[in-house]
Amino acid sequence: MPQILIVEDEPDIGELIRIHLERVGLDSQVFKSGLEAWNAIERDPPMLVILDLMLPDMDGFEICRRMRSGEKTRSVPILMVSAKGEESDIVAGLELGADDYVTKPFSPKVLMARVQNLLRRVETDGASQDATARTIRIAGDRLHIDLDRHSVLVNGADVEFTRTEFDILLCLVSRPGFVRTRDQLISAVHGEMAVLTARTMDVHITSIRRKLGPLRELIRTVRGVGYRIDESAPATDG
Ligand code: CA
Repeated sequence: MPQILIVEDEPDIGELIRIHLERVGLDSQVFKSGLEAWNAIERDPPMLVILDLMLPDMDGFEICRRMRSGEKTRSVPILMVSAKGEESDIVAGLELGADDYVTKPFSPKVLMARVQNLLRRVETDGASQDATARTIRIAGDRLHIDLDRHSVLVNGADVEFTRTEFDILLCLVSRPGFVRTRDQLISAVHGEMAVLTARTMDVHITSIRRKLGPLRELIRTVRGVGYRIDESAPATDG
């Protein structure tokens, strides 16, 4: 089985992706049929799946669903490829367990950056599951979260977050760079107070940004989809 499996029914696009992967030394195989792709994934899980959503037989959503419920395929990263402007598809795919997405037409450079980001995550997953790794450092430790003490340091200063805000922030920073949908953030909130809606989520995000002060740009809004942490964001004054 090649390292990367591409599920794409448009031959030109599939081939384009394959060539760009090859250029950086990544071996891949293109499947035009969703069903055949699923059979191959289940038989021998690859390192990563690049998944078109609209396919003639089994669509990308179903492949996503099956991968996330299969023991051998559960942790294989999925990069979705969706038609431009289909925000509801992106949200649905992320909620079914896709890890990231690009929209068509995509720039090969962006696609390759996303692929390498996902592959890097696979490599570092072992470290983050280390029981001693109980702190999360973002943006070169400008944002420091201590999971045991439930404390958040912004540029070294202790800032108080409510339980709900802490859970939302944790959900975002646990996968920096990756989009979280509002529903995913809602389900990350624990406790009886978790009667949240997409709208109240936006209110919490506003409050979290205010508390992050100079680091507020770390939380980026992904319009129509959700939020993500952007570590390249510059610090702002105040
Ligand atoms: Ca398609």
